[in-house]
Amino acid sequence: MTREKWLDPSNWASLKPFGIGEKHPNNYLELWNAFKENRDQARYAWRILSQGTCDGCALGTKGMRDWTTRQVHLCNVRLRLLRLNTMPALDVTLLADVAPLARKRSAELRGLGRLPYPMVRRRGQPGFTRTGWDDALDLIAERVRASSPERLGVYLTSRGTPNETYFAAQKAVRAIGINSVDNAARVCHSPSTFGLKGSLGVAATTCSYTDWIGSDLIVFVGANVANNQPVAMKYLYHAKKAGTKIAVVNTYREPGMERYWVPSNVESALFGTKIADRYFLINVGGDIGFLNGALKQMIEQGWVDRDFIENHTEGFDQLAQAVKDQSWEDLEALAGAPRREMEEFAAMLGKARTAVLVWSMGVTQHEYGEDNVRAIINLGLTKGFVGRDKCGLMPIRGHSGVQGGAEMGAYATVLPGGLPIDEANAARFSKLWGFEVPATTGMTAPEMIDAADEGRLDVLISSGGNFLEVLPDPDWCRRALGRVPLRVHADIVLSSQMLVDPADTVVLLPAATRYEIPGGVTETSTERRVIFSPEVPGPRIGQARPEWQVFVELATRVRPELAERLHYQGTAAIRADIARAIPAYDGIQHLAKFGDQFQYGGPHLCAGWKFPTPDGKAHFSVVQPPRLAQPNRTFRVATRRGKQFNSMVLEQVDPSNQAVREAVLLSRADAERLGLANGDPVVLHSDVGEYRGRIHIAPVAPGSLQVHWPEGQVLIDRHRRSPQAGIPDFNAFCTLEKAGVPEPAPAPSG
Ligand code: SF4
Repeated sequence: MTREKWLDPSNWASLKPFGIGEKHPNNYLELWNAFKENRDQARYAWRILSQGTCDGCALGTKGMRDWTTRQVHLCNVRLRLLRLNTMPALDVTLLADVAPLARKRSAELRGLGRLPYPMVRRRGQPGFTRTGWDDALDLIAERVRASSPERLGVYLTSRGTPNETYFAAQKAVRAIGINSVDNAARVCHSPSTFGLKGSLGVAATTCSYTDWIGSDLIVFVGANVANNQPVAMKYLYHAKKAGTKIAVVNTYREPGMERYWVPSNVESALFGTKIADRYFLINVGGDIGFLNGALKQMIEQGWVDRDFIENHTEGFDQLAQAVKDQSWEDLEALAGAPRREMEEFAAMLGKARTAVLVWSMGVTQHEYGEDNVRAIINLGLTKGFVGRDKCGLMPIRGHSGVQGGAEMGAYATVLPGGLPIDEANAARFSKLWGFEVPATTGMTAPEMIDAADEGRLDVLISSGGNFLEVLPDPDWCRRALGRVPLRVHADIVLSSQMLVDPADTVVLLPAATRYEIPGGVTETSTERRVIFSPEVPGPRIGQARPEWQVFVELATRVRPELAERLHYQGTAAIRADIARAIPAYDGIQHLAKFGDQFQYGGPHLCAGWKFPTPDGKAHFSVVQPPRLAQPNRTFRVATRRGKQFNSMVLEQVDPSNQAVREAVLLSRADAERLGLANGDPVVLHSDVGEYRGRIHIAPVAPGSLQVHWPEGQVLIDRHRRSPQAGIPDFNAFCTLEKAGVPEPAPAPSG
C-alpha cells in the first residue's frame, strides 16, 4: 500500500473535535443503539458480526474485516440490519386480521418480528391462518400445474440473498419451463451490465477496491457511497492520504461526499476528512451532457492515450466526430453546468495517469441508463483506465446479493454466467441439467407486474422484496398485485405487499436468513470476490426454511419426474453445480469455512488490455444526448435515498442534512425566485401523480428537485423504461406549487 502521512491537516474537514455541532451521522451512537437493540441476543449478534459476511451492501466482508485495509470493517447500515437477524418470531395471531397491520409503516411491520410459519389467506378472509409446509407447497404446485408456465413469475430480492438461493431458484423455475425469474439487479445496475458487456466484453466491475488507494483520481458519478456503502469512506480516507484526488458529478451536493468522519480512523474521527476535491453539480438527467462535454474537451486538447486507442479499441473516430458535432450550447443546456466546469473535469482526467470511475443508480435509473453508462465507459477508455493497477470501471452495488443474482442466472434475460438466452445456450444448460431449458427470454420484474395488471399472470412468487416500494406508481402496483390469483411471499419479516387483498389466495412462507442456512452460503461482492459465509450457531425461528429448498421442493412437486435432477444434498452440492455451470465461478466448490474466498477474474478484468470481445478490443460507443421532452414550467425531479438501506427507511430524518422524509430539496436560487422558505408545504404534480412535501433548501442544481424514494414513487411514470435493460426511469418532470395556493410556479431557471 502507498505510504501515508500520519496527520494531514490539509484533508481535515473541521477543527471541532468529532465534528461536534456539524451535521453528520453519529456512528458511535449507532453502535450503542445496536447494542441496546440486540442485547437479548448479544452473543448471537456478535457471532453474526464476527463470523458472517455482511448482508448489507456489496462491499463485502469476512466477519468485521475485509481485503482492502487491515482495519475493522463495520458500519451503521450493518448495525441497523442486525436486528432482522436476531429478532424473535412475531405473534402470528396478529395476522388473523390484516386491517390494523395495513395501517402500519413498513418499518413497523418489520419490527413485529420474524415470520415463523407458513400462512395462507383466501379471498374474503380478514387475515391469515397457519398452514403446514406440505400443504402450502402442494397448493402452490397444484396452481402452477393447472396454469401454463408463461403465466408464472418469480422475483428475488438482493438483500442478504446468497448465490446458492439464486442458482437453485433459477434452475427450479427453468425446470418448470420458463425463464421468468428476475431479481433486484433489474432495477439497479442492469444498464451497467449491458453497457460494460457491449463495450468491454465483461459485465462486472473491472478492478478492486485497493485500486482506489493511490490512484491519481477517483470519479463518482451519481453515486453516494457515504450513505450506501459507508465503509467505502474509510477507503477514501486512505486514498486521500495517499494523494488521490476525488471528483464527484451529481445532482445534489451530498454532504457525506464532501465531508465525512470515519469513526475508526483517529484522525478522521477527530477532524473529519474532506472527501471531494471538486464537486460538479449537474441537472437531473444531465449526465450525458456533462460527460460528453468533458470528452469533447479531452479530444480537442489531445488529452487522450493515442497508443491505447489505436491498438486496443474500435470506434474512436466515429465517437470523436459525434462529440465534435454536439454543440457546447446543447451540452451545457442538458448538463445544467457551464462549459468551464466540463473543461475543468476534463483537465482532471487528462492529468491523471490512473483513475477509477465509479457510478451507481443516479446514472442507471434513467430511460437512457445504458447510454449514461456508455458515456462513462467512453471517458474511461480515452486514457485506458481499465485492466491495469489503480484503474477501473466500477458500477458499485448496493445489495449484498445483487452481483451474484444475475451471474447465477436469476435473471429473465440471461442464463447462468450472463449468457444470453438463445438456442445454443439453452441447449448447453439442457444437456448439463437433464431437462429442457427454454430458449426465449422471460418476463422482467416490471413486466411481471404489467402481466398481473393485464390478467396474464396466475402465480407470482416473490422471495423478499416489496413491489409496492421498488416499482413506480404504487397504486397501480397494488391494483396489479390484487389481480394475481395466487401470490406467494417468502420472506423473513412482514412487508406491505403481503397485505394486499387476495384475488384468490395469498401464501406466506417463512424464510431463513443467510446465517441460518446449514452448510453456509456465498455472496459475490462488487469487486467480484466470492465470499463464504458460514452457518452461525444461534436461535432458530419456528419453521423458517432456506429459500433454495423451497424452490427445489416446489419444482419437484410440479415436475416429479425431475426430482433426482433437481435434488441437492445441501449448499455444498449447489456450489458444485455452480462451478460446473459457470466457468468464472470455478473455485466456489472449494469454499467451505469462514475466510474462504476468491476473486473471480483476478484483481483486474481485461488485464493487459485483453478484452473478451469478438475482436479482442474495447469498443467506444457513439452516445447522443437524449432529447428530453421537458414540458414548460416544470422541474426535473430525482428520487434520493436518505437514512435508509435501499427501500428500508431507517430514520425519518437524514442525519447528514437534517432532511425529513417529505423534504423537497430545492436550490436557494429557485426558492428565492418563488418566494419559498424552508418548511413551506408544496405540492408536486407529474403526469401520473401528486406528491405533498415541504421545502428543504439544499445545494441542488437550479431547475432540479429531489424527493425521497420510495415515497416519491407516486410521481414516476411506470411506462418509462430503458430500451435494453428495461429499468424504470425513477425521475420525473413536475410542476411545483405552494400547498393551498394552486398557482403554477414560474419556469425554473437553468
Ligand atoms: S459498508 Fe456495506 S458491506 Fe461494509 S459493513 Fe456496511 S453494509 Fe456491510
